[in-house]
Amino acid sequence: MDQRANHACPPQLPVVSGHGRFAALGPAFHTELHPTPIPAPHWVARSTGMARELGWPADWWQAPEALALFAGNRVAAGTRPLASVYAGHQFGHWAGQLGDGRAILLGEAVAPGGELLELQLKGSGLTPYSRMGDGRAVLRSSIREFLASEAMHALGIPTTRALCITGSDLPVQRETLETAAVVTRVAPSFIRFGHFEHFSHSDQHAELRQLADFVIDHFYPACREPAAGQPGNAYAALLAAVALRTASLMAGWQAVGFMHGVMNTDNMSILGLTIDYGPFQFMDGFDPGHICNHSDPTGRYAYNRQPPVAFWNLMALAQALMPLIGESDHALAALEPYKTAFPQALQARMAAKLGVAEPREQHHALAESLLGLMAREHTDYTLTWRRLTEHVAGAPADTFTELFVDRAAAGHWLLQYDELLAPVPQGQKLDLMQKSNPRFVLRNYMAEQAIAQAKLHDFSVLQDLLAVLERPFDEHPEHAAWAGLPPDWASSIHLSCSS
Ligand code: AMP
Ligand code: MG
Repeated sequence: MDQRANHACPPQLPVVSGHGRFAALGPAFHTELHPTPIPAPHWVARSTGMARELGWPADWWQAPEALALFAGNRVAAGTRPLASVYAGHQFGHWAGQLGDGRAILLGEAVAPGGELLELQLKGSGLTPYSRMGDGRAVLRSSIREFLASEAMHALGIPTTRALCITGSDLPVQRETLETAAVVTRVAPSFIRFGHFEHFSHSDQHAELRQLADFVIDHFYPACREPAAGQPGNAYAALLAAVALRTASLMAGWQAVGFMHGVMNTDNMSILGLTIDYGPFQFMDGFDPGHICNHSDPTGRYAYNRQPPVAFWNLMALAQALMPLIGESDHALAALEPYKTAFPQALQARMAAKLGVAEPREQHHALAESLLGLMAREHTDYTLTWRRLTEHVAGAPADTFTELFVDRAAAGHWLLQYDELLAPVPQGQKLDLMQKSNPRFVLRNYMAEQAIAQAKLHDFSVLQDLLAVLERPFDEHPEHAAWAGLPPDWASSIHLSCSS
């Protein structure tokens, strides 16, 4: 059957089919409902790159119903939007039932290669899972999520994507009075560890199995034939596959200095995607213990805690899958590879940042000693790697050492580096470094600049920032300031869970 047959939008906007795969799981998994309209919506931002991946024409947003559809003010005929139920551990404690409290799945779109992508509104009104919340998202957090999604994708890190933001003057109360916005997110699936925890903790084992079979069939089909030497059934194989994807995700985060801020199990994607951008931060001055979330006083989700916390979250997933896996030994064996896969993936990422494709032990030690130097002085993370890249491109040693107070130590490290890397051809090093060390990351102050202007209905900074972050390894000379050190006021920005 043509999967587009069910779309009910104007021909120039082939948006969503009415009966998505997730919808077909049945009523135990979700509640069908319509988004709540926002008054007088307007466009805030659109990602041309995301639209292109959906196979949509550049002017898709000019389709008559596009604005209403992505503001949640109209539902395409024949589609059945829904909010899903999940649960989770928040800050290490069982939080019970949660769910899409402000997110509504519109349905699926078919990408040109045939891949089905789910389109979800975030901030589109109350659902049965809203608990004490108002079902809304504010413009500030929507801009942060939109930019971060597209930036992470461009950095080569798995993430949910963002198609667009619509806004309204509808007031929304947070610490201060703000205004509402709706982000359209895109992903093959928004299923979280917490979806499994919900069905497991409520002893709905038939649904738990249905969900696991769904995820295996659509996203991990290889788990039907467990690898040689791997104990257990397809569900143990699923756990092992999720653990490997999560290990690779954590390595990606560490390598670009990304901190999520709220790694609760309800914010962990079963596909190993970065999901639910809240008080996230890209590292400025390197501090391994840095805590980006003001609502996380103990630093549970500090930069250097992320990889072990991901393992803790995988343990929670393992526990949820126990009714299907059966033997706890099999679950533990499925998780074990995380402990080697994560450091291996991280070492490979760090070696690439040094310009080494096939690292040996000395290269790992060299990366470690640079991180040690940076940690001692809180040297800017992104800039240090970029200046090292410039040095390899021919810039004098000062380009790199001037970032450090202890220039002698930095110079000594650089000599070791130059010597150890001398056998690698310059072009080879540079090529790898230029695509491993971004010139631009979404620092908090940059998002704040885009937000401040957007609040005045000027979206030009947001546009410029998106254009830069979509190609973060390029030069963008007209925006050179964003490639430099953050301004002094950046350190006074405090991010909480409020969004
Ligand atoms: P988060 O910490 O943003 O990942 O959200 C945790 C849970 O709270 C999820 O179930 C969200 O859907 C829900 N939630 C967060 N903010 C709101 C809101 N403003 N209205 C309704 N539910 C919300
Ligand atoms: Mg969440």
